[in-house]
Amino acid sequence: MSNSALSTSFSGVDYLIVGAGFAGSVLAERLAHALDLRVLVVDKRPHIGGNAYDRHDDAGLLIHPYGPHIFHTNSADVFDYLSRYTQWRPYQHRVLGSVDGQLVPIPINLDTVNSLYGLKLSSFEMKQFLESVAEKVDDVRTSEDVVVNKVGRDLYNKFFRGYTRKQWGMDPSELDASVTARVPTRTNRDGRYFTDTFQAMPAQGYTRMFEAMLNHPNIKVMLNTDYREIVNLIPWKQMIYTGPVDSFFDFKFGKLPYRSLQFQHVTLPVERFQPVGTVNYPNDYAYTRISEFKHITGQTHSSTSIVYEYPRAEGDPYYPVPTRENAAMYKRYEAEADARTDVTFVGRLATYKYYNMDQVVAQALTAFKRLRARHERQDAQEISALTLNPANVALSDT
Ligand code: FAD
Ligand code: UDP
Repeated sequence: MSNSALSTSFSGVDYLIVGAGFAGSVLAERLAHALDLRVLVVDKRPHIGGNAYDRHDDAGLLIHPYGPHIFHTNSADVFDYLSRYTQWRPYQHRVLGSVDGQLVPIPINLDTVNSLYGLKLSSFEMKQFLESVAEKVDDVRTSEDVVVNKVGRDLYNKFFRGYTRKQWGMDPSELDASVTARVPTRTNRDGRYFTDTFQAMPAQGYTRMFEAMLNHPNIKVMLNTDYREIVNLIPWKQMIYTGPVDSFFDFKFGKLPYRSLQFQHVTLPVERFQPVGTVNYPNDYAYTRISEFKHITGQTHSSTSIVYEYPRAEGDPYYPVPTRENAAMYKRYEAEADARTDVTFVGRLATYKYYNMDQVVAQALTAFKRLRARHERQDAQEISALTLNPANVALSDT
């Protein structure tokens, strides 16, 4: 990727894009390809791809430095769009939870309940079982409500309480329902983590896909650079900002909490470490889960590479924290952001939304449609100003 954005005759760019993750890269691609605009993408990290960046480690194993990234979507538009820049390897992610000395499927399904309780229930009987243990909550508001309302206190304690307290540093009763609602409950034997229509990994990895998206003569990429270092040096007309929204506004309404993680990557001289892509540890250890990349990437290799995730309060911002107070603080930032006609805020950090990759792509494509409409309006105004100008009419008559 080129760092050589500047030449002596450089006259600035149409768009300065802060962040080379999904949000920034999709918008760079669209603005350059569809509107022929000049774009500078700047990222403070030494690579493109944001948190989806992948690379080969010293042993030659393809790893995800920022934790396992599994692509899944129900949106044909998002899948078709990304398919212009990558081929795919079909992959259905499976996760087991280490509970009571057993490895059982999560999301909780028929096999989970039968294994844990030594039962032989049918699907129909599992529904009755869940109804008998569920603690009905009339107004489901928190991450505790969602789970106890569906599967009762015991399964909640076994799978969700400890994991959530570790991951978020707070009790599920303090977190919005949407967090644990990400994980469904099933009464069949479907052991997949996701059931989306499209589930696949970029065949050559995410970084290759991002390189292809950003490979356009109108797109320059500047790495190892905080946008604040160049924002007043390089002329730009519009900005796309995909970093943390509170930082953009100098924390004027306070610091929005973003949960962080510490990743411990380990390469082992064995072909297989664990039976599935991810094993969750809700109740033991300081880490939440271990993922083994070869399951996810499909790579064959005599060694294997795994990653442990240790939740942290401080560090790189990875997760917006969905609570009522944080939503209220974000609303104030959002109002400021909406009032800026020169900056568009897109992505997980800039809109403080617990979005998956496909949701960020969809959000960026929607933002592009708005920007394109604005450019078309501006072009139309310029043309009508030109044709209405008597000087131009006289000129064209001669
Ligand atoms: P980011 O990828 O965070 O990109 C923002 C970029 O902005 C960063 O590269 C950052 O360096 C840059 N930046 C910030 N501030 C500045 C600044 N001041 N100057 C210059 N650059 C700046 N999603 C899925 O769909 N499936 C998964 O399996 C999945 N697993 C995940 C696992 C983990 C551990 C995490 C943390 C996330 C996971 N996600 C997953 C979510 C996914 O990572 C995000 O949805 C997606 O990467 C967000 O893209 P983005 O462009 O909004 O943000
Ligand atoms: N969760 C849990 N136990 C599990 C899996 C998930 O308690 O075994 C809860 C936890 O609060 C987690 C949330 O559900 O943060 C969402 O899980 P997901 O796997 O979607 O998290 P991500 O991959 O985004 O970190």
